[in-house]
Amino acid sequence: MKFFYNSLALLNLPLFGIQIPLTDERVQKICELINSKGLKIDGDFTELKIEREDLERVHTKEYVGKLFGNKEAIQKAVSDTFELINEQGEYHRYNPKDAIYSLEELVQKVILQTKGTIATAQEALKSGKSFYLGGGYHHAMSFAGRGFCLINDIVIAARWLQKHHQTKLIWIIDVDAHKGDGTAELTQNDPTIRTLSIHMQEGWPLDSGKFDKNGNLNPWFIESDVEIGIAQNEQHLYNEKLKAGLDKLVSLDKMKPDLAIIVQGSDPYEKDQLPSSALLNLTQEQMLERDLLVYNFLNERNIPQAYVMSGGYGEYSFEIYCQFLDKIL
Ligand SMILES: [Zn+2]
Repeated sequence: MKFFYNSLALLNLPLFGIQIPLTDERVQKICELINSKGLKIDGDFTELKIEREDLERVHTKEYVGKLFGNKEAIQKAVSDTFELINEQGEYHRYNPKDAIYSLEELVQKVILQTKGTIATAQEALKSGKSFYLGGGYHHAMSFAGRGFCLINDIVIAARWLQKHHQTKLIWIIDVDAHKGDGTAELTQNDPTIRTLSIHMQEGWPLDSGKFDKNGNLNPWFIESDVEIGIAQNEQHLYNEKLKAGLDKLVSLDKMKPDLAIIVQGSDPYEKDQLPSSALLNLTQEQMLERDLLVYNFLNERNIPQAYVMSGGYGEYSFEIYCQFLDKIL
């Protein structure tokens, strides 16, 4: 397995004046484990070139235009994604005076993150297995960012492979606690990217109704090809349902996928500290069973695997990645 990470791509929100303490406590411990196995971590992906058209293959021209637009357009796109302006039009957990870096630089930072996801996916295609210590912005939609995800690096990487490596079928297996709603919306009419999302049945998406006032389905409720909601009282069935979901994914197409991207959020873990993932509380053993289930399922079928970390919050999140990597390395 090859590893990718570059501290330049870390998204430290307080440096941009955004008062969301999402620091990545997971990374250091995972790096230590990888190094202790005598393995190297590649950080050269920052050299990769991403063009505007690579984003426009996934997001609308209008939205990409905002991300590359003037200061006001960028501020609007970022504040919508990170919910920085309240209903009264005042700043909410945002103080531009505290910012060391501009919001334009934040956009560039997220693009840098995305380069890591692309490099990781390319590597898996080449050598079979790769792991990125970053990535997994699965809430970003075609027309806007959402849920702290400005652009959807996962689908950008998938479409990059289609364009540059002529892949025919890619799976996205999303085991984060939150529904991969952006990924589902972006790929809803695309049979060349199949998605599985297993997540908390309630509590996300946060918005109240499933339908808007005209009776149309809100886009964050669009389902993945294999959609598995886990209710609080059926958590003991999580891995059983995941296995059935993987079997269903196989049955959707005659051909084998060129690659699977695994969105390996650790936030279903009972020790995760994000309030919005509290409706899923798997034990450390269940989490290992989950990760080995996906790993072995793909391994047995000779399907290349590219991992992105996605959600995982607080001081215990590293335990989930470390126990998995320790087992397979
Ligand atoms: Zn999550």
